[in-house]
Amino acid sequence: MNERADILVAGAGPAGLTLALQAHDHGAIVRVIDRRPEAARPSRALILHSRTLEVLRPLGVTQALLARADIAPRADLRLGSRMVRVTLDGLALPDTAFPHLSLIRQMDVERVLAQALADRGVRVERGTELAGVCGGPEDVRATLRSPAGTEEILIGFVAGCDGPASTVRAQAGISWPGHQYPVEVILADAELDGDLADDAACVVAGRQGLLFAFRLGEQAPWRLLATRPAGADPLPPGQFGPPVPAAELQALMDEAGLGAQLTGLAWSSRIGLQYRVADRFRHGRLFLAGDAAHAYSPATGQGMNAAIQDAANLGWKLAFAAARPVSGPLLDSYDAERRPVARQVLAMTHLVFWAEASTGPVASAFRGCLAPLAAPLVPALIGRRRLVAEGIRLLSQLRVSYRGSPLSVEGTPRRRGGPRAGDRLPDQLVTSAGRSIRLHDLLARPGVHILLDRDADRFGTLPSGRLVNVHRLASVPGRGLIAVRPDGYVGFRCQATEARQLAAWLTRLGARQPEAPSGPLVAGTTAAPRGLQGRRRVDDSKRSTVTEHRIHGPGDHDLAQWPFRSIPRPEDAGRLAS
Ligand SMILES: Cc1cc2nc3c(=O)[nH]c(=O)nc-3n(C[C@H](O)[C@H](O)[C@H](O)COP(=O)(O)OP(=O)(O)OC[C@H]3O[C@@H](n4cnc5c(N)ncnc54)[C@H](O)[C@@H]3O)c2cc1C
Repeated sequence: MNERADILVAGAGPAGLTLALQAHDHGAIVRVIDRRPEAARPSRALILHSRTLEVLRPLGVTQALLARADIAPRADLRLGSRMVRVTLDGLALPDTAFPHLSLIRQMDVERVLAQALADRGVRVERGTELAGVCGGPEDVRATLRSPAGTEEILIGFVAGCDGPASTVRAQAGISWPGHQYPVEVILADAELDGDLADDAACVVAGRQGLLFAFRLGEQAPWRLLATRPAGADPLPPGQFGPPVPAAELQALMDEAGLGAQLTGLAWSSRIGLQYRVADRFRHGRLFLAGDAAHAYSPATGQGMNAAIQDAANLGWKLAFAAARPVSGPLLDSYDAERRPVARQVLAMTHLVFWAEASTGPVASAFRGCLAPLAAPLVPALIGRRRLVAEGIRLLSQLRVSYRGSPLSVEGTPRRRGGPRAGDRLPDQLVTSAGRSIRLHDLLARPGVHILLDRDADRFGTLPSGRLVNVHRLASVPGRGLIAVRPDGYVGFRCQATEARQLAAWLTRLGARQPEAPSGPLVAGTTAAPRGLQGRRRVDDSKRSTVTEHRIHGPGDHDLAQWPFRSIPRPEDAGRLAS
């Protein structure tokens, strides 16, 4: 029996690794298992979106990710006989430090996350499978299987980050409505000879579907991704299926008009696709995140990004819930916040995938006839910076908001202007201690962040603690505050420094003991929830003093005026993105 950990993370893909990191940073003891004996596997995802980088920032991994990414991706778009070069960089997104798409292999993302976990002393137990789970009111009994044998554990929570064929989902009896696509994807790492630019992806839209050639191969220079009608043999969706003969790949390239010869094939796989969203993301103490909770087509590159964003929504909640008794809304909020987002993403990817890959007459005609005719308009469209930025904002999930969540509270008196409770806190350049820095950078550490207006009461009258950080926005007049959750969403705001209301919100969040009067907040608590008694070791001596930043916004960039009208210089964004 292993009785030490608070949270069992089943699956060490992007969702599981992120969740484990965030829960660890919020004080939980995590155990991470994966049935794969080896960490390495061919990459599926190749795109990281801005919001994903933002939620990863407090985990200290963005610099390592950006070092492995192409943040000014170029693509040669072939539409019929026309070719259009598209470059996506320096987007007009002033409220993020990452105004770009990042082209990066999933394998590199997983490596960086796993390394960060190892640096914190958390080892992924590879070759260890979750064979069964049974959730009770106070804990979960889990059966783990590895070459060393079978182990039964009792644990506080199980995070099912175990991919599309999730054991947790099946054992929790959560239904998985949706369908399989009549289209499959082919991935291959190949050597190609032909007229392909070295510095750009090649994208060919043909009647049969889309074909991408990226210079991002892992076992050979080129990574090919193509869609085609699904074969008669059923493929397990979302998982690597049988290889594709070289002659078939060459035929696909010829049909699309790629104009390249396949001179070597290192690896290839057919992958079945599905679109589904789990009926619930939570069953008692069992939770689903990532592909275990939703499955999309690869259109617009959402799966890994959504997986990481789910994990960043859930990790801190489980950590807080493991540390002290929490009210219902904290854990209920995960499903309430993330399932509607999953449904929206499904609708978007479904529509785009239809246009990209459907072999029906309308979509085929769109790609085969209309798209080539519209090709001359593409440079003008790409030149419309605001339009492109808004499109990327949508794809990047920068627009996601949890206004209806039980954790989003508007205080009394109500604050006007700026981000509302449930909105993502926009980023901006600020001046702190005489240097120019990103607001998100100042908030890039675990815990809740309270942003006081210039004239708000001093933090001494507010609840404080190790996981509650207080800042003062010296350029924002007023006596109110904005409280930001660990995942960067505004949770509470008020026009006055209402300690009682703030304390109630912090209690709801699990960042504060329910019985504690307003005053210093105990970050670690000795009061473990029933069922976790004796397991959680919390050191009260870790109670720390609150640091106060004085932040001077440059005037036209303050939260009261959000959304911002002016755009920081791109060189600032690049320099400060870390
Ligand atoms: C062709 C293709 C292209 C894609 N391109 C993109 C893209 O550009 N951008 C993007 O964001 N997404 C993309 N995706 C989707 C992306 O790859 C997935 O959404 C992402 O891998 C999901 O991460 P995850 O951690 O939820 O699950 P997974 O990556 O599937 O990880 C689940 C892990 O759980 C482990 N596991 C399973 N069962 C158990 C068990 N019982 N016990 C222990 N461990 C278990 C598995 O071994 C695995 O390591 C693409 C997908 C495909 C198919």
